Amino acid sequence: MCSVVGIYKNKNAAKLAFYSLFSMQHRGQEAAGISSNENGKIHTIKDRGLVTEIFKEEHFTNVLKGDMAIGHTRYSTAGDDSILDAQPVYAKYGLGELSIVHNGNLVNKDEVRDELIKRGAIFQSNMDTENLIHLIAKNYQKETLQERIIDAVNKIKGAFSLIILSRTKMFAIRDPYGFRPLSIGKIKSGGYIVASETCAFELVGAEFVRDVEPGEMVIFENEEIKSIKLFEPTPKKCIFEYIYFARPDSDVFGKNVYETRVEMGRALARELPVEADMVVPVPDSGVASALGYAKESGIDFELGIMRNHYVGRTFIEPTQEVRDLKVKMKLSPIKEKIAGKRLVVIDDSIVRGTTSKRIVRMLKEAGAKEVHMRIASPASKGACYYGVDTPDPDELIASKMSVEEICKYIEADSLAYLSIEGMVEAIKDKKEDYCFACFDLEYPIK
Ligand code: SF4
Repeated sequence: MCSVVGIYKNKNAAKLAFYSLFSMQHRGQEAAGISSNENGKIHTIKDRGLVTEIFKEEHFTNVLKGDMAIGHTRYSTAGDDSILDAQPVYAKYGLGELSIVHNGNLVNKDEVRDELIKRGAIFQSNMDTENLIHLIAKNYQKETLQERIIDAVNKIKGAFSLIILSRTKMFAIRDPYGFRPLSIGKIKSGGYIVASETCAFELVGAEFVRDVEPGEMVIFENEEIKSIKLFEPTPKKCIFEYIYFARPDSDVFGKNVYETRVEMGRALARELPVEADMVVPVPDSGVASALGYAKESGIDFELGIMRNHYVGRTFIEPTQEVRDLKVKMKLSPIKEKIAGKRLVVIDDSIVRGTTSKRIVRMLKEAGAKEVHMRIASPASKGACYYGVDTPDPDELIASKMSVEEICKYIEADSLAYLSIEGMVEAIKDKKEDYCFACFDLEYPIK
């Protein structure tokens, strides 16, 4: 996961980066940071915690004062849970100073790092992003930063949506597969924004211009935007951005996330109909798909389960014990609505199965006559190597059990998952342009 943002030529660059990170906090809550240029220097503030906990007004008035800024919210996927692994990653090197933010995961991190260590590099963190700094800094053959960046990204493999800040320029780069999103907007008060999700644009008063294309490098210099095609694009955009990660009000890969989720719910109803009295979403993850399911099936939509918003996401909690307790603290049924009813319960995915089991039990205890689970994505069977912190495959219930076994385990009356074909129908796009590897184990990069 993680989010990245870059602001180019705006007098409140760091403040706008802060607001952007705030709007993308859902992509990572572990750490956050912002770098900004000023009088030929780059200053960085980063720490563990939420964006609003880290940044204080004096940071913007005293430190982050330049007209360019880049920022990051971290959700650990590569490296350790430590402040050294927070981004931006800053360095002073032969050509000056630079700072990098990265969303994604590099699959050849160890190979590249071993090679760099053999050549004398010393690392401060476990982050794959630090490799890039070394690849750029140690490339004495190339005279310009732009040439060095091009050489460096040709040596790395995997998922990377990158923003690099120098003292005078900003570079935005997306890997040839375009696993992670990266969009460009024009800020009404001046300059440009590049961000993982377009939900940031609304908050900073920016209008969508276009996506950084897979394999493209966009250079912001002298108030202008220049584009260089670094790689032949071979799109494999992450389908999970639509299912789970991205905020519903964002447009990702050219489509609105909310609308796409509604379409997934419609496809689910066409593919997996069930006789029922009520469609109930698992809040908040299943709401948009449940609306789609209700519209397509004609079954009433009801918010039969309430969510306490003061409890964090269960997916990111490390131990089973904490997760179990959090489900109870987080969700509670509206008994008056569901007692005696046959329910179709919609969720976006099943990870370990424990949350679904608790939900089914809770609904039955509240008097539901039948509980039919319908999942608006295929069964998750594999790990992600491209920037998403999925659990180990042996923790994924669908990697060990058949759909019938999972249904029995979660104590539902029936269970069914949307097919990959159903998802493709919902996104109305070319199947071959998307990565479905955590469902079909067809990994685009070894
Ligand atoms: Fe997305 Fe799954 Fe592919 Fe990872 S493996 S990029 S989560 S679709």
